[in-house]
Amino acid sequence: MQEGKTGGPSAISSSSTGVTAKEEINVYQMSTMQLDRALRYLPTIKKGLIDFLKRPARSIIVEFPVELEDGSVVTFTGYRVLHSRVRGPGKGGIRYHPDVNLDEVRALAAWMTWKCAVADLPYGGAKGGVACDPKKLSETVLRRITRRYIAELGDNIGPYEDIPAPDMYTDAKTMAWVYDTYQMMHPGRNNLPVVTGKPVDIGGSLGRREATARGCLYCVQRALAEGIVPNLPSVRGAHVVIQGFGNVGGIAAQLFHEAGARIIAVSDSTGGIVHEGGLDPEAVLRHKEKNKSVQNFPGARNITNEELLTLPCDILIPAAMECQIRADNAHRIQARLIAEAANGPTTPAADDVLFARGIPVLPDILANSGGVTVSYFEWVQNIENEQWDETEVNEKLRVKMERATLAVLEKHKQLLTRVERGEIKTPDGQVIRQKPDLRIAALVLAVERVANVALERGIWP
Ligand code: NAD
Repeated sequence: MQEGKTGGPSAISSSSTGVTAKEEINVYQMSTMQLDRALRYLPTIKKGLIDFLKRPARSIIVEFPVELEDGSVVTFTGYRVLHSRVRGPGKGGIRYHPDVNLDEVRALAAWMTWKCAVADLPYGGAKGGVACDPKKLSETVLRRITRRYIAELGDNIGPYEDIPAPDMYTDAKTMAWVYDTYQMMHPGRNNLPVVTGKPVDIGGSLGRREATARGCLYCVQRALAEGIVPNLPSVRGAHVVIQGFGNVGGIAAQLFHEAGARIIAVSDSTGGIVHEGGLDPEAVLRHKEKNKSVQNFPGARNITNEELLTLPCDILIPAAMECQIRADNAHRIQARLIAEAANGPTTPAADDVLFARGIPVLPDILANSGGVTVSYFEWVQNIENEQWDETEVNEKLRVKMERATLAVLEKHKQLLTRVERGEIKTPDGQVIRQKPDLRIAALVLAVERVANVALERGIWP
């Protein structure tokens, strides 16, 4: 799973580049800033409704004791935030990391609301986590933490209430424990849809493991076919750079390679490798499995992650962690398109630089929504007691990703036209001249979809 620090403020300064840029930002601030930017293009949404959409519906903190292997007892803090249930039950992963905190979980839960809305899934957004260091804990202790955390959450999760999934440092095995714990507490009924990302022999979906990367490929293919990058109509022959070589990045390298792209550089937390002639992702995977690092791959040159991000290429895919493309390095990016497979890899300040430089960014809430989309397929299969073939899952995923991509591109065009015509004004009557980027378009689409359902349902009672 993913290494490195996330969620905490990233203090960035760069003097070696001659540029002094300091950016103090964390994911909570990022998600709020992104939403505020998008809301400028939705001036007719009532303030009260905006407040409702901004604030999480429910934030739970649980403190619980767990006995460690040596007999000592440690109290852990767990979180579960349900950001919105307007479009359906909550959906979102569980993260185990020392830095997990309420602000981070709230931000990630909000992103899930917007992602599910862009993907047009019948879910609201949620997220959870336990502040712990899984690298230092045995499997037995992680199982105890999972069981106790799920027991403490009680009926705040459920197949029609809030449905967890894996996130950083949790995986299919963790989801099996989540299912088993919930099943023990609610015997005598089909509880498989309480959690997704389960092992395939406990109701997991075929194709789920590859879904985020595959969805990213489908999104990029559709966007290129729509002409988002001049003279780059497809991934065939495109030079691709991928940061992160885990579940998403490693599989993205394989799938883009199979689709005819040339993977010229990849990286993991130890650093990167570049080979302009093209890397064989399968061989890099075998090398990483053996050496625990992609570096020192025969025939390739070692580079740092910072160098990797600024390599000349057609498509850059950040697939590692948050806040990687920032004010201090965005002006050195030499990609023609960025597809955000990771959550929150680009800061708002970097968004501005990239937009000014004409580099389109397929935003995370669109480009990595393949994972939650196949989680939704898993939930449907569990409810129907079915198992779909992998080809069926992939085809359904392709349809969903293409539809979502087209919807975001269409919303972007609409917003551009309205800005050009001076039709969008601030509440005090000022005409908005700033052209929106694709992130703003995706968020506007998502907020409109959630707000429409909220209004159709009517504010209860
Ligand atoms: P993972 O833990 O399997 O892989 C993460 C990779 O990033 C590892 O190769 C790790 O070595 C590398 N990495 C860590 N720190 C790095 C650094 N500083 N520089 C370069 N590489 C670094 O995680 P994953 O499941 O592949 O998730 C990656 C990103 O995709 C995360 O942002 C996650 O939230 C997002 N995402 C994942 C899914 C999913 O289905 N797994 C779905 C949506 C979004």
